[in-house]
Amino acid sequence: MAKPLLLLVICLLPLAGCQTTTTGGTVGMQRSQLMLIPSQQLEKMSAQSYAKLTAEASKKGTLNEDHALLLRLRAVADRLKLQTAVFRKDAPAWNWEVNIIGSKELNAFCMPGGKIMFYSGLVDQLHLTDDEIAVVMGHEIAHALREHSREQVSQAIAAQAVIGVGAALLGLGQISSDLANSIYEALVATKFSRTDETEADRIGLELAARAGHDPRAGVTLWQKMINASKGARPPEIFSGHPEGASRIQQIQSLLPSVMPLFAAAHRPGQ
Ligand SMILES: [Zn+2]
Repeated sequence: MAKPLLLLVICLLPLAGCQTTTTGGTVGMQRSQLMLIPSQQLEKMSAQSYAKLTAEASKKGTLNEDHALLLRLRAVADRLKLQTAVFRKDAPAWNWEVNIIGSKELNAFCMPGGKIMFYSGLVDQLHLTDDEIAVVMGHEIAHALREHSREQVSQAIAAQAVIGVGAALLGLGQISSDLANSIYEALVATKFSRTDETEADRIGLELAARAGHDPRAGVTLWQKMINASKGARPPEIFSGHPEGASRIQQIQSLLPSVMPLFAAAHRPGQ
């Protein structure tokens, strides 16, 4: 079934919900999102997955080993968190967490509800500055603000409901293994659509600028990502992301709207 038709069918289901979400800020955007699962339910699942991940890392002795890096990341996160209110009033009060897994992986993500994880390789191997950390963290936070995982899980539920697995799934009373996998993918594996990536880039850049981090770091960050992707170990964080060159162009075209926010912001350490 063609995707627009599928969405139309789902939107007509009485239990289903298509909601038009509007995001504030200077780079604001508006589009219709399919949301079939309550935010609270996904946040609960996200908190459980995150707790499992940190417990496993702790058991392996790879959790928060680099204390100096942890302090850097948490300081950047504290500044970004304050700015999330521009996009969502409820976000500053989320139960935020920031941790590091010691790993060569070039990866980072923010689960629904503000559960941030950085893999040490991303910062260490790409020699990220605080401004570059702010841009990449802002990008990951933006996925959570825009509830891209919730949308992705909703699409998985919709696909299963339409192919006849049953409307019972809409209540998530029984979760099939396919659906459980989709939820896991949406929470942990961070494979987002191109639209999601563009939204996250835009909002992430504005969050960084408002927090007093130079948004021009978005250009150097993606240059580093492109260079790393040519190597033997391409960045995991890069896998779901569109080509670097067009992305850098997009970031450059956004700079005129976010640079005034950076100029007006209080810079860290000043
Ligand atoms: Zn992304």
